[in-house]
Amino acid sequence: MTVAPEIAALLPDIKTWRHHIHANPETAFEETATSAFVADKLRSFGLDVHTGLAKTGVVGVLRNGSGAGAIGLRADLDALHVHEKSGVPHASKVAGKMHACGHDGHTAMLLGAAAALARKRDFDGTVYFIFQPAEENEGGGRVMVEEGLFERFPMSAVYGMHNWPLSPIGTMATRVGPLMGAFDIFEIVATGKGAHAAMPNTGRDPMMFASHAISALQTIVARNLHPLEAGVVSVTQVHGGDTWNVTPEEVVLRGTVRSFDAAVQDLIERRMRTIVAGIAATFEMTATVRYERRYPATVNAETETKHAIAAASAVVGAANVDSDPTTNMGSEDFAFMLQAKPGCYVWLGAGRGPDTPNVHNPHYDFNDDALPIGASYWVTLARQQLGV
Ligand SMILES: [Zn+2]
Ligand SMILES: [Zn+2]
Repeated sequence: MTVAPEIAALLPDIKTWRHHIHANPETAFEETATSAFVADKLRSFGLDVHTGLAKTGVVGVLRNGSGAGAIGLRADLDALHVHEKSGVPHASKVAGKMHACGHDGHTAMLLGAAAALARKRDFDGTVYFIFQPAEENEGGGRVMVEEGLFERFPMSAVYGMHNWPLSPIGTMATRVGPLMGAFDIFEIVATGKGAHAAMPNTGRDPMMFASHAISALQTIVARNLHPLEAGVVSVTQVHGGDTWNVTPEEVVLRGTVRSFDAAVQDLIERRMRTIVAGIAATFEMTATVRYERRYPATVNAETETKHAIAAASAVVGAANVDSDPTTNMGSEDFAFMLQAKPGCYVWLGAGRGPDTPNVHNPHYDFNDDALPIGASYWVTLARQQLGV
């Protein structure tokens, strides 16, 4: 492990910032105190600071030398609607909200890298430190791109990182191509005719629609998708009926679809609409489908992934960098930045052992031992990309 000396010197500060952010969580587009904290710190390091992009987003600009080459390093600011049960001294002071995904650690590591690079200024070019709001569900990354992130701050590549408690501390992983899945949601409303449950022949029962549709939707992956392609269709909610002896008028199904490939995503949506229409026709009722594409797949570019692997190898050692990890169907709104710019997203091992709570668990807390590793990765990457 090679922790940059200036990061080692800053570690007590980085830890303090992390604990402060952890204790004061704010959720999507409401990260006003976190955003102000980040902006203050960046200004104190001597960076040029821009606020208000995607409401609570912050971009810190650090130029050195010619200022010509430019890259972006991105962290996320938001917490989750989870009630913390970690019991740590810096636990959330806000009931029902916590940094259960480690974005507190991501923010602290990127601040640490900004402080270190601002002190040493041993690079030639521009580093944009991007702190985005609302990574969870609400697409703050998309909003930043739509509001002109890459026009206002021109850069050749953008890099992201997420702590990964399922992998041991001291490891990193990424790969060329898709790393995480596209995230879609759907809502199906079937409307029949309510009836006395003892006289079902007088109605048209949407429960029949629900039971057939839940099974039939699984045939999209099992029977329509190429066996070597990846896709997930999960019905996660069924709402219908209020009492014992009434067949309801309406049933609502909701769920999520995950995929890596746009053609697979198109296939799943198309087949879902066909299946729903067909089953509704079978049972002589109507059904509607609302299908919403939330986040695209997180797809790493080839050259930038090589750069990321080189920087990761310099910090944790090549033997501890997995360059072909198993992809997963979680999703990440950094995907919107990767659609607009070449770049690479890496996983930072943060596991303390087999019982480490995963992200989104109420017992989770960002592993402070990952702070010097992640921050060193950022400064190493910036120096390698903007070397003098
Ligand atoms: Zn998360
Ligand atoms: Zn996260």
